Amino acid sequence: MSFTKSTSGKKAHLLIKPSIKPIEHVCENCNGSCCKRVDQKTREIYSCQYLDENNLCSIFEYRPIACRLDNRYHSKLGINFHCQVSQLSLSKLMTQEEATMEIFSTLTEKTNENE
Ligand code: SF4
Ligand code: SF4
Repeated sequence: MSFTKSTSGKKAHLLIKPSIKPIEHVCENCNGSCCKRVDQKTREIYSCQYLDENNLCSIFEYRPIACRLDNRYHSKLGINFHCQVSQLSLSKLMTQEEATMEIFSTLTEKTNENE
């Protein structure tokens, strides 16, 4: 799977197909955020080569294991975190690693405030 420049702004819809351990998950159609990446240097958005013009996976039935959220995560919390990171990354033009760190920093600050 490789990533090409995005044609963002289109409607997204990824269905999560149950496999080993089904977890109910409703994709919120966030323009295929989890199929895109932000380049660390240029801050340009690149899309997976299999993401079509409607932000749908064109190889959905044959998509890699890494794209099958129910294979990667074993709780709703895990999938929700995946979506949060993907959406924050795209909205703030951050890499996924940067978005992950921002979420953890925010959580740490809130925890410290409550102590
Ligand atoms: S789900 Fe499909 S479009 Fe999205 S990253 Fe995987 S292969 Fe690419
Ligand atoms: S990040 Fe979550 S809500 Fe957005 S397209 Fe991917 S699975 Fe759907």
